[in-house]
Amino acid sequence: MRSVPKRAKGNSRAVISPAAKRLTCALVIHAGTETKICNKDFLRPEHLNRHMLTVHGEHKEWICKLPGCQRCFSRADNLSDHYWTHLDKGDGRGRNVKWSLEELKSLLPPDEVGACIRLGKRLHQYRALARNSDRRRGRKSRSR
Ligand SMILES: [Zn+2]
Ligand SMILES: [Zn+2]
Repeated sequence: MRSVPKRAKGNSRAVISPAAKRLTCALVIHAGTETKICNKDFLRPEHLNRHMLTVHGEHKEWICKLPGCQRCFSRADNLSDHYWTHLDKGDGRGRNVKWSLEELKSLLPPDEVGACIRLGKRLHQYRALARNSDRRRGRKSRSR
C-alpha cells in the first residue's frame, strides 16, 4: 500500500467578489399618479433592513410628490420639512428645485392640501421674521 501524497493542483479558483452581489429594494412606491419600484441598492442585508424600517416602515410611505424628486421619508413632519426646502422663499438659498407656493399647490395632489396650508403659514412667519430683522439692522428691504 502506497499512500499518494495529495498535492494542490495549480488551478486557482475564481473568487466571486462580494461587491458584485447587490441587494435591491423592490418595494413599490406610489408617487402621485405613477407607481415605481424603489430600486435602491445595498451591499449588506442589515442596510436593506434598516432602509425597509426607516423608509418604508409599517407606516404610510412619505414620498415627495414633486416632479423630478423621489425622496422618501419615514415621517410626515420630515416630508413637510422637505417640502419647505422646495419652496421659493425669495432668498435663493438651498439646493433643491424651487417653486412658489402657488406652483407647489398646483403640483401637489389634493391629499397634500394640509402640507400646503402649513407651508403657507410657515412662509408668512418666515417673511415677517425676515422683515423684522431687516428693520432692526436699519436696512431698507430689497433696495436695488
Ligand atoms: Zn426602498
Ligand atoms: Zn422633493
